[in-house]
Amino acid sequence: MFRNMNNREQVITKNIQDIQKRISDAASRAGKSKREITLLAVTKNVSVEDIRVAIRAGIRFLGENKVQEAKQKFSQIGPAVTWHMIGHLQTNKARTAAAIFDLVQSIDSEKVAEALSREAMRLDRHLDVLVEVNISEEENKFGISREKTEELVRLVRTKKNLRLRGLMSMAPFVPEPELTRPFFRDLSSLFEKCRPLAGEHWGILSMGMTHDFEVAIEEGANLVRVGTGIFHSRELRRSA
Ligand SMILES: *Cc1c(COP(=O)(O)O)cnc(C)c1O
Repeated sequence: MFRNMNNREQVITKNIQDIQKRISDAASRAGKSKREITLLAVTKNVSVEDIRVAIRAGIRFLGENKVQEAKQKFSQIGPAVTWHMIGHLQTNKARTAAAIFDLVQSIDSEKVAEALSREAMRLDRHLDVLVEVNISEEENKFGISREKTEELVRLVRTKKNLRLRGLMSMAPFVPEPELTRPFFRDLSSLFEKCRPLAGEHWGILSMGMTHDFEVAIEEGANLVRVGTGIFHSRELRRSA
């Protein structure tokens, strides 16, 4: 399948295949099928050209962390793939966000949920949302604290035109992925604790990135967010 591809395309395609294989292996270890795990390709700072390569290689879910950048790319790529917002959302960007994204992973206050709900109603759209938890309680990270998560889940559930699907979090960056396990385990149990409060659409646990997605899957993640491993691997930096 590598015929007629330039080097960059080959590397991106191979990176995706490798990651899919590792997802599949981690899923087996967790007693799941690979079909239960969604691979979200994180495309911040990635060109439209490279994104198209990833789509040809089978990627169907894109994650962006800035509304303006997503808007630019959305105008070229369109709604055939599923768009996730994974960065901090400011209320003054809610209107654009509600028009572009299928799912917003970064709901960390009632104010943001309210703004997004209002704009979704105006557009007559329904948006999927996740509550972002600051599981490592680091001051420089976005997300609601563990203690306030259940309260926010209750509130978000009542917002019109938002479908509350689950939780998202980032583990602290540590050199050894294994050290992230306790954070993922805590998020998993918080996810189950929220289930009775959250309603019928609950089911997405978004945790794990390039460095630690296998540990995250072993601890219950069913959506992993991978950027570097697909688009900024060492082979690509060398050929750039
Ligand atoms: C950038 C980013 C990722 C992807 O991180 P990689 O280490 O490049 O895989 C995942 N989640 C969020 C919220 C991000 O901002």
